[in-house]
Amino acid sequence: MPVLTKTRLLTPGPTDVPADVLLEMAQPIIHHRTKQFQAIFAELSERLQRVFLTSEPVLTIAGSGTTSFEAAQINLVKPGSKTLTIAGGKFGERWQDIYDTYAPTLGITENIKLNVPWGEAVTAAQVEEVLKANPDISVVTLVNSETSTATAADVQAIAAVVSKTDALLIVDGITSVGTLPVKMDEWGIDVLVTGSQKALMLPPGLGFVGLGKRAQARLDEVKPTGYYNLDLRKWLKSWQKNDVPFTPPVSLIRGQRVALEMIENEGLENVWARSAALAKASRAAFTAMGLELISKSPSDSVTGAFYPEGVSDSAIRNGTRDNHSVHIAGGQDGRGASWKGKIFRISNMGYVDAGDILATMHAIETELNAQGQSIKPGTAVAAAGAVFAQG
Ligand SMILES: *Cc1c(COP(=O)(O)O)cnc(C)c1O
Repeated sequence: MPVLTKTRLLTPGPTDVPADVLLEMAQPIIHHRTKQFQAIFAELSERLQRVFLTSEPVLTIAGSGTTSFEAAQINLVKPGSKTLTIAGGKFGERWQDIYDTYAPTLGITENIKLNVPWGEAVTAAQVEEVLKANPDISVVTLVNSETSTATAADVQAIAAVVSKTDALLIVDGITSVGTLPVKMDEWGIDVLVTGSQKALMLPPGLGFVGLGKRAQARLDEVKPTGYYNLDLRKWLKSWQKNDVPFTPPVSLIRGQRVALEMIENEGLENVWARSAALAKASRAAFTAMGLELISKSPSDSVTGAFYPEGVSDSAIRNGTRDNHSVHIAGGQDGRGASWKGKIFRISNMGYVDAGDILATMHAIETELNAQGQSIKPGTAVAAAGAVFAQG
């Protein structure tokens, strides 16, 4: 085979960035206290609201997804209350760690951790039980699409349960907004957070926080304690004037406006359908190769499988990268499981199409066979192709 030079970034973040977005980001820097910047920012905010399916503010914050999620967590907890942090993977565990870290500063009396096995989704009934037993919970954190385990939770059902209580629901939509159906206003999600480098087709560096009515009221009710830059009251006040409180990454903001324009031109529901088809094809190909999927409740934004016994993680991932220019991700270790070296994952979100998935399946199959597996050549591509042929 000739050496391929087209790099495909199939890691579930960061993901590939379209050329139109890269070109926009190469524009000269403009000053942010100008009408020109405000017009760009206003358009970005409106597009974000349409992608979040909300008529409430969606703040654009410099930093990674974690920056924005941490901001939501620390701003909204009531002093003297409990928090409920749900985890079934690495990212849910991170939100648990953040409240543990801030508990003394914010006056959290107990950070209740609801853990489910990695690869499984929490149920609304489990959440309801904890809320009933602890009426003094003021914030619940939930990961919609747990990227470390490729698992999706039923946000709609859980939001229905939480919105009947005084607790606010902060949803990690970092690999769901712009790739899975997630309807902020209709489902009653209080806070929805995402980052730029997953489904939104931008390099890393921006985070977005959608703030529902109940969350805005909570910001008025609680005094900021122990943080400054991430005080969402400041961000919200500026946002009302199409502005930001501190110097923003202007180039990323320009690029994000263009990337959202691409998403809206394709149509949000078409983007969801594309991700779903790519994920279905990926699962079919992995299964056809005899691999076991890592999730019992698979997310359509990321697909993962266990390696067969005796196959080396680094050999497969270096092989797909060096021999096929396809970058895939490995597993992570956390409190709930140790998946480093045991699993691999690919992205089905953002700037990815059927050709990328076929190339990825060919690369994985070839490298598995180079590691001693005996998969009939063409199996993975045939299985994925059969899904695409259904249209
Ligand atoms: C990537 C990711 C994060 C972390 O985002 P960063 O931008 O790396 O801080 C959090 N949650 C989920 C579900 C993710 O996929």
